[in-house]
Amino acid sequence: MTQTLPRRISVRNPRTGQNDFEITAATGADIAEQAARLRRGQSAWAQKSLEERIAVLQRWAERVQSCRNAITTADSTDTGYGQISRVAVDMTLGHIRRYSLSAAADLKAAMRQGQSPQNPLVRYDCVLKPIPLVGVISPWNGPMHMAMLHAIPPLFAGCAVLVKPSEVTPRFVGPLRSSIQEVPELAAVFDFVLGDGATGAALIEHVDMVSFTGSVSNGRKVAEACGRRLIPCELELGGKDPIIVTSEADLDAAASAVLRGGVTSTGQVCFAIERVYVDAKVHDDFVSRLVNKAERVQINYPDPLSGHIGPFISHRQAQLVDAHLEEAIAKGAVLRCGGKSFNRGGGLYMLPTVLTDVTHDMLVMREETFGPVIPVMRYNDIEEAVSLANDSLYGLSAAVMAGSEAEALTIARLLNAGNVSVQDAYLTFFAGPAESDKFASSGVPGKRSGLQRYLRREALLINSGKPACLLEQSMQSL
Ligand code: NAD
Repeated sequence: MTQTLPRRISVRNPRTGQNDFEITAATGADIAEQAARLRRGQSAWAQKSLEERIAVLQRWAERVQSCRNAITTADSTDTGYGQISRVAVDMTLGHIRRYSLSAAADLKAAMRQGQSPQNPLVRYDCVLKPIPLVGVISPWNGPMHMAMLHAIPPLFAGCAVLVKPSEVTPRFVGPLRSSIQEVPELAAVFDFVLGDGATGAALIEHVDMVSFTGSVSNGRKVAEACGRRLIPCELELGGKDPIIVTSEADLDAAASAVLRGGVTSTGQVCFAIERVYVDAKVHDDFVSRLVNKAERVQINYPDPLSGHIGPFISHRQAQLVDAHLEEAIAKGAVLRCGGKSFNRGGGLYMLPTVLTDVTHDMLVMREETFGPVIPVMRYNDIEEAVSLANDSLYGLSAAVMAGSEAEALTIARLLNAGNVSVQDAYLTFFAGPAESDKFASSGVPGKRSGLQRYLRREALLINSGKPACLLEQSMQSL
C-alpha cells in the first residue's frame, strides 16, 4: 500500500524574507477525523443553555487574556508589525463581550410563534437548531482577528467550529489553541486545521456551512463548492473603496482621512481607500496636501515599533502591487510620491504612493490593489463623481468628505456600498453591530444578521382540534 508523505508548507517571515516556520497540511482524512470529533462534541454544546455557553466562552476569554503575549508575538511575526496583532486580541475579547450581551436577544428575535392564518385550530411554534459544524476559512491580512471574527458567533449559537487559517500567517494557531485546550468544554467543539487552498477546499466537503473571508476569485470557487453540496456559505470578499472629496470639504482633513484610509497596515485592508475622486476645482490643492503628508510616513525598519507602516505580509502581494503601479504609469498615470516596493533586510516595503491622471481603464482603478497606493482622479460635477465611485464590481465600503455633514449624507445615500463613512474614511473598522450587506462581488448580500445565520428554524405545527378526515371532505373544501 502506498503511503502519501505529509505535505509541508513553509511560512515566510515578512521582516526577513526567510522561511522560518513550517506547517503540515491536513489531509482529507485528518479533516474527516477532526470534523467527526467536533460533531460528537456539538450535540452536548447545543444542549447547554445559552447562559452555560456564555460562561464557557468567558472562561476562555480569561485564558486568551493570560496568553496575550504569546498570541501577539506569534501573530505579529506573521504580519511584520504589532499594530494589527495588538488589536487582534482586544477585538477577539470584544467579540466575546459583545455576543455575551446580545446573544439572548438575537435568539429571541429568531423565534416564531402564532396562529395559522388558514386554520384557526392550528398554531405554530418553533425550535432553533444550530448548524452542527461551521467551517471558517480566513485570509492572511488579519490572521487571528479575521479568523475569530467569524468563529466566535457560531460558538455562541451552539455550533461547532473548525477554522482553516491562511497558510501565509498560521503562527497564532499554536498559542491560541493552547488557550482553547485549557477550557475542555470549548476544545470539544472548536479547533483548527492547517494548510493551503487545497485544505480549504477539502474542509468544505466536511462541514455544514462555510464562512469564507478572502479574495473574490477564491470566494467564487468556495461558493461553487458549497453550491454543489447545497450548504450555506457566507462570503466576505475584497474591496476597491472609493472616497469622494467635494470642493467645499476641509481639504486638510480630507487628505488626512485619505492617507489613513489608504495606507494603514500598508494598505492590506479590505476596506482601504483605493480610489479618490476630487472636485477638479480643488484637485491640485488636495493632491499637494496629500503628498505633503504622505512623504512624512515612515516604514517600521529596522525597529518594528518605529514608523507608521510595516512590510508587505505576503511577497506575492508586493509583486501584484508593483504590477498595478507599472501598468498605471505605462498608461499615463503620474507618480507624485512613493514608488515600487523595495527590500530592507529581506522584507518588502512600499512608501505611500500617490498617483494622479489615472483612468478607469487602469488596474489601480478597477482591481483590488491591497497596497499603499492612492490613485486620485478629478471630477467635474457630483453626478460624475457618484457614477465613477459606483463604477466597480466591488462594494464593500465607501466614504465622502464634503463641506457639511448634510451635503456628505446626501452623496453617501447615492453610493452603492455596504458601509459609507461620512466626513471621514475607514469607519468600517467601527461598524460592528451595523451589520451591513455587501454589494456585488464584495460579498453576498441579504444574509441574516447576528446569530440567526447559524441557526435553522424548525416549525412545529400543532392542531388543537381533530385531524381532518379526507372522507368527510368534498373536493371543493380541500
Ligand atoms: P485568498 O482568497 O487567497 O485566501 C483566503 C483563504 O482561502 C486562505 O485561507 C486560503 O488558503 C483559502 N483558499 C484558497 N483557495 C481556496 C479554495 N479553492 N477553497 C477553499 N479555501 C481556499 O485571500 P487572501 O489573499 O488570503 O486574503 C486577502 C483577501 O481577503 C483580499 O481580497 C481582502 O480584501 C479579502 N478580505 C476581505 C475581508 C472582508 O471582511 N470583506 C476581510 C479581510 C480580507
